[in-house]
Amino acid sequence: MQEKLTLRLLPSQASSHEAFTEHIAKTTGKKVSEITGYHILKKSIDARGKIIWINHTVHVFINEPFHKRTLQNFDFQNVGGAAKKVIIIGGGPAGIFAALQLIELGIKPIILERGKEVRARRRDLAVLNKEGLINTESNYCFGEGGAGTYSDGKLYTRSNKRGDINRILNLFVHFGAEENILYEAHPHIGTNKLPAIITAMRKRIMDCGGEFHFEKKITDFTVEKNKIKLVKTADGEIFPGDAFILATGHSARDIFKLLHQKNIEIIAKGFALGVRIEHPQELINSIQYGGSINKEGLLPPASYSFVERVEGRGVFSFCMCPGGIIAPAATNENELVVNGWSPSKRNNPYANSGMVVQVEKEDVAKYYSDKKNKHHDFKSPLLMMYFQKEVEEKSFLAGGGKFVAPAQRMVDFTEEKFSRSLPGCSYLPGIQSALLNEALPPFINDRLQIALRSFGKKMPAKNKFSNYFTNEAVLVATESRTSSPVRIPRDEKRLHHPSIINLFPCGEGAGYAGGIVSAAMDGERVAQAIDI
Ligand SMILES: Cc1cc2nc3c(=O)[nH]c(=O)nc-3n(C[C@H](O)[C@H](O)[C@H](O)COP(=O)(O)OP(=O)(O)OC[C@H]3O[C@@H](n4cnc5c(N)ncnc54)[C@H](O)[C@@H]3O)c2cc1C
Repeated sequence: MQEKLTLRLLPSQASSHEAFTEHIAKTTGKKVSEITGYHILKKSIDARGKIIWINHTVHVFINEPFHKRTLQNFDFQNVGGAAKKVIIIGGGPAGIFAALQLIELGIKPIILERGKEVRARRRDLAVLNKEGLINTESNYCFGEGGAGTYSDGKLYTRSNKRGDINRILNLFVHFGAEENILYEAHPHIGTNKLPAIITAMRKRIMDCGGEFHFEKKITDFTVEKNKIKLVKTADGEIFPGDAFILATGHSARDIFKLLHQKNIEIIAKGFALGVRIEHPQELINSIQYGGSINKEGLLPPASYSFVERVEGRGVFSFCMCPGGIIAPAATNENELVVNGWSPSKRNNPYANSGMVVQVEKEDVAKYYSDKKNKHHDFKSPLLMMYFQKEVEEKSFLAGGGKFVAPAQRMVDFTEEKFSRSLPGCSYLPGIQSALLNEALPPFINDRLQIALRSFGKKMPAKNKFSNYFTNEAVLVATESRTSSPVRIPRDEKRLHHPSIINLFPCGEGAGYAGGIVSAAMDGERVAQAIDI
């Protein structure tokens, strides 16, 4: 007999297989020995009340042989001899999932990636973190697996209408992720596990006859009769193709400039900008779970999520990383960008999150005209990109170089007071006390100040700990690569660029995704739309 149950358990009841089975037996009125096994179908934590519950939906096997979870199968074909080939520019989640989908469709993908493969890239990240020296082609954004490889690996998305999230999660499991991502409410892989998964995907693409070329930065292309004929790389190689997927991510500013120079339509797009905030993880646990509840370590490090409208613009937390590390995510010298990641165990002592303000074109146009800055063309599709770059450069200067980040304690920030000392911080290149309002434009700075005070009231103090709004927290500037500052338009149905009919803009850089899963889904969608 098989049964589907919902269980509301205390953390101690959900803490071990034995305790869990006992609870199933009690709920079904059977003996423990009659429960032959179970699959968890859904799992979420309810920490809203005084008692914390862990909710489960389970599929239970009673008095009959237990069958392992059936995982999705994928039909990867041999495309080595396929007549048609698609060039994919960019080997991030969008590019890789497009390639896997093309292979299932019997079309040969050729990925051209400007950065290095996963292992060589790791060495460049170590130099950036330890010595403050950046490789502009191999960093947290560029290289095999794109920004997704050394990301946090949170796999939840609000874009569930854009594709089959479950299929993407199953593909991750197929390539080595743990099965819990299939049922957790907030699935997370962790930075330590992603590189092996990305490598397994690349190997499969190549085993099936696809190609993956590293250190191939696209710097030019030729167009004939509304079609791209070939792309050229920085080292002079030429790649002709039947169709071209452009999946270069939000940091490929050279690609945005190239399209603009060639009069190919692109559009300036709003994004969000702010800081990354770090608290002691213990403080966030105490607020979310109550002081004593997690002493046994039965709950995962707590997270939070905020959104508030301040003076007509959204202020919201972004990419929260419990037990995480703040990372230097710039792609150029003289620009300071931060982001966050965490290992699968989320066992670092800090909780960090982006805290950002929505920025629209009119905000930037007003900001420049108030400053009587005449250098900017307010109608340029690159307006938002240059604005983003300018804030990152100011932040770099405020940190004093070598990717040391300007930082300020939270209450000091709202009072515009220089922090005489800074708390410990996970950001490896180091932080330096600075007035962040010197790097952040006033329309961002002022909204952040208002929102932070309000978030303190939403997350009040528990036990000996303070509330969210505290000088124990540090703000690190700038969280600026939240999404692309440019949209590359495409035909709604056929998904190609309106004027170049074999160019398929894709993923986050083109403005159609905002994270790993949405970029992966967009890659699949575009691959399915290619008709050659
Ligand atoms: C530290 C960090 C943590 C993050 N954490 C999360 C998270 O937990 N969850 C989540 O959903 N998202 C997270 N993200 C965001 C996520 O990684 C991106 O949304 C996602 O990777 C976008 O996928 P993409 O394929 O569209 O672009 P990208 O991943 O940016 O890939 C684009 C690729 O194109 C290549 N490229 C660029 N220009 C060229 C060129 N001219 N020629 C050839 N190749 C080129 C780049 O090198 C890059 O590999 C994080 C990002 C960072 C940096």
